[in-house]
Amino acid sequence: YELCATNIVNILDLSGIPVWGRERGEADPLILGGGSAVANPEPVADFYDAIIIGEAEEAILEVVEKLLAAKETRASRRELLEELSTLPGLYVPSFFEARYEAGEFKGLFPLKAGYEKIRRRVVPTLDAVPYPYRPPVPWAEIAHDRLALEISRGCTRGCRFCQASSLYRPVRERDIPRLLAMAEEGLSATGWDEVSFLSLSAGDYSCLTELIVSFNRRFLPEKVALSLPSLRVGSLNETIIGEIKKVRKTGFTLAPEAGTERLRQVINKDISEEALFETAKTAFEAGWRHLKLYFMIGLPTETPDDLEGIVRLARRLTRVKGKDGPQVNVSVSTFIPKPHTAFQWERQITLEETRARLSFLRARLSRRKLKFKWHKPEQSFLEGVLSRGDRRLSALIYEAFRRGARLDGWSDEFRFEAWLEAARALGLDLSSYLRERGLDEPLPWEHIDLGVSKGFLLEERERSLAGQTSPDCRFSRCLKCGACDFKEIKNRLAKDCEVPEIKPPVRREEGRFTYRLVYQKRGWARFLSQLEVMRVFHRAVRRAGLPVAFSEGFHPLPKISFARALPVGVESLFEVAAIELVKRLAPEDLKERLNEKLPEGLRVKEVAPSIPEAALLVPEETTYEIELPEPLEEEKVKAFLSRRSFVLTVRRGKKEKEVEIRPYVVSLSLAGPRTLRLVLFEPREGGVRAEEVVAALLGVAPKELPPLRILKLAPQDSEPFKEAFKRPLDEL
Ligand code: SF4
Repeated sequence: YELCATNIVNILDLSGIPVWGRERGEADPLILGGGSAVANPEPVADFYDAIIIGEAEEAILEVVEKLLAAKETRASRRELLEELSTLPGLYVPSFFEARYEAGEFKGLFPLKAGYEKIRRRVVPTLDAVPYPYRPPVPWAEIAHDRLALEISRGCTRGCRFCQASSLYRPVRERDIPRLLAMAEEGLSATGWDEVSFLSLSAGDYSCLTELIVSFNRRFLPEKVALSLPSLRVGSLNETIIGEIKKVRKTGFTLAPEAGTERLRQVINKDISEEALFETAKTAFEAGWRHLKLYFMIGLPTETPDDLEGIVRLARRLTRVKGKDGPQVNVSVSTFIPKPHTAFQWERQITLEETRARLSFLRARLSRRKLKFKWHKPEQSFLEGVLSRGDRRLSALIYEAFRRGARLDGWSDEFRFEAWLEAARALGLDLSSYLRERGLDEPLPWEHIDLGVSKGFLLEERERSLAGQTSPDCRFSRCLKCGACDFKEIKNRLAKDCEVPEIKPPVRREEGRFTYRLVYQKRGWARFLSQLEVMRVFHRAVRRAGLPVAFSEGFHPLPKISFARALPVGVESLFEVAAIELVKRLAPEDLKERLNEKLPEGLRVKEVAPSIPEAALLVPEETTYEIELPEPLEEEKVKAFLSRRSFVLTVRRGKKEKEVEIRPYVVSLSLAGPRTLRLVLFEPREGGVRAEEVVAALLGVAPKELPPLRILKLAPQDSEPFKEAFKRPLDEL
């Protein structure tokens, strides 16, 4: 979104690519943009060669064809851009010129005849375009660590502040059989154990009950959980509740957006307080114990009573079940007028107004069962500036980047001062971007045609100020917003809600079979934490279709345990894990199937049937080979070994503590001028890390150590040790 702007500059800069489109030459790559943040592309226009407006699935293939053709004919960069500009939905910023008079934006003027408006691309049906069934699955944990299944696109509820409403119209739903097939393919390719239904409003999917029932019937036996995002008020019914009770739940989200029914009518979010209350009650009865509420402050026509309304509603919802009601988390952000919405002309409240309204709410929402969270006012201020900004803001973004602004969407990284300094240096008045806009004033995004007409937005604005709501065109008449052509592009709901015949997988369990795995962790895999390694194994086991046993409870996990946690950054030739299967498998088969699905760097080297108690046995002495940044004198090693005690301050979790490290060092020697060989005594609890011994040896604090290459070796003579746990396969 808008606050990612400096990341664009950062990526280009780190890649050694000229940041400004105008400075890129024939040998430089073509920089393409897209996505919802460029509904108003002007603030970032100068960084891009071309931007796809709208849905890119079809357009991106056409761009690739043009690129290939340009390569074939050795076309110049300018010729390629000319060609791209002939594609529908392709915006080439350098073919437009922004004009200003006395510091006022006067419009964008095309530099190429017939290139006045860029009409957004939209796909007629979601099934007509390719879907990423096999998305890349990062090794490390990510924010949305699950398979996202796009059940529908577009929303015609018509919330007047919502840009996505204009950007993704009309509604296009996928049918249930198609969705189940997509889940099947996606899960087996990725190994994820959770699916979330992706949509602007999953609760509006017309066959939601049937979809949830059939999904659970097919995937619950394989311990795949369904994560439901916010459900619309009124979308919970007995069947859905029954199904939801079977899966794990995170918080239940409701987004009233405004505190009173009056203001909700202004924004066209016509939900009564009673309906909100009933939904919260039902959710609570279905097992949700946390309720999240989203509100905005600063909406057009807001009064103090609307702010009081937020407080009244939140407090009332904590009492949906008397004293035992849910924990209610209230999240408040500042309303930002977005381009292409009915509120695009409205003013955004100032920083001071935002702060005052937030402190009003904070004072009243700090009590038992209520948690108040708010969006940083300075971030909202900047988002407001960038949302309705013009092309001059490319320079602002670049200047802020030069002053250290990065990852501005993360409040802990956000450096408002860098932006203020950049604005001062450029002589830009940032507050002026938050002002109300005249209805006839040229707007920087008017050359971008999302399909929804200005006339419709003005009409909606009028209705809003009159407190009138507008219906959802899915269920009533067409409001003539302009998004549909009614031939190809129109609302398309799931054909019928019939559930296909589902044969739930039959899982035959022959017993419990434990195997001991010895694996290596090399190369980039050394940067995975133990928790990440565990997840990688969980996914590999699922992708390999292994008959693994699962733990009990709401979040069943494959039964894989690990002997010891290897510190991040250390490579190892000898790591031990145990896996429990419900069918007997030949060790070689298990090894091969796992290795086929494990990522580079993690390799299973040995598999042996084992009795459960012995599967995780490891020697208590471990040998490490450590590559030092510089040659080390033998004397230092001798001096260390001659000491009977060596106390070092080390970090354990968030705390620092003093540890006597000397007793853990069994032996220490130089295997080369820069190579240390260290044998450590590693008890099950406590102990020290190899790098801590190196720190002691070099006389520095562990955190001051330069990067080291540490390799844990396999026990030299592991045969007798192996005999202790090994068990013939047929005896299992
Ligand atoms: S053109 Fe009519 S049917 Fe299509 S999205 Fe707009 S209001 Fe709805």
